[in-house]
Amino acid sequence: MTKSEKAKKIGEILDGLYPTPPIPLQHVDSFTLLVAVLLSAQTTDAQVNRVTPALFRRAPDPQSMAKLSETEILKLIRSCGLAPSKARNVKKLAQTLLDEYGGEVPADMEALEKLPGVGHKTASVVMTQAFGQHAFPVDTHIHRLAWRWGLSNGKNVEQTEADLERLWPSEQWGQRHLQIIYFGREYCPARNHDFEACPICSWAAPKSRRK
Ligand code: SF4
Repeated sequence: MTKSEKAKKIGEILDGLYPTPPIPLQHVDSFTLLVAVLLSAQTTDAQVNRVTPALFRRAPDPQSMAKLSETEILKLIRSCGLAPSKARNVKKLAQTLLDEYGGEVPADMEALEKLPGVGHKTASVVMTQAFGQHAFPVDTHIHRLAWRWGLSNGKNVEQTEADLERLWPSEQWGQRHLQIIYFGREYCPARNHDFEACPICSWAAPKSRRK
């Protein structure tokens, strides 16, 4: 089976398992999504969803967020990992949006990547989930599964992103990103691999990647 045949079959299985995968981070617009994704680094989505209702009640837009002090933001997001640096970045981010983008989140990958606390993956998530643009955000979970399934030999997430973007049509990227995340959550337990019980690893993982 070629890599593209394998990707097609994996895509069909993912479509069957997760036909309409919801966006896991609660948000109401591009600003609240951007902040939620920024908060999700090294923190579970569930944890982010616990803190954002109160945060967004106080500050639903860049204007009100920039008015909060770093300490006030920190108090609201304290239970997230890396909270002090995230609080600093959220405040700076809101101020930058006001100073440079008229209080709007730019629908542009390069501009997003320059914002405080926003890396390539965060920018990609916002591009696809807020603006419906074609982007394939790859985190470490997707990176590992793509390697396990033999879709990429990528040594890093950048390489894996490029490989996956070649294997699936661009209009599927956002959907595949979410589906693989949900797949990993459901099928990759904290401990052992059980290759035979997995609807994809059972046939897609090459022998050399079954350890
Ligand atoms: S075998 Fe199971 S735990 Fe291992 S990568 Fe596949 S789905 Fe995840």
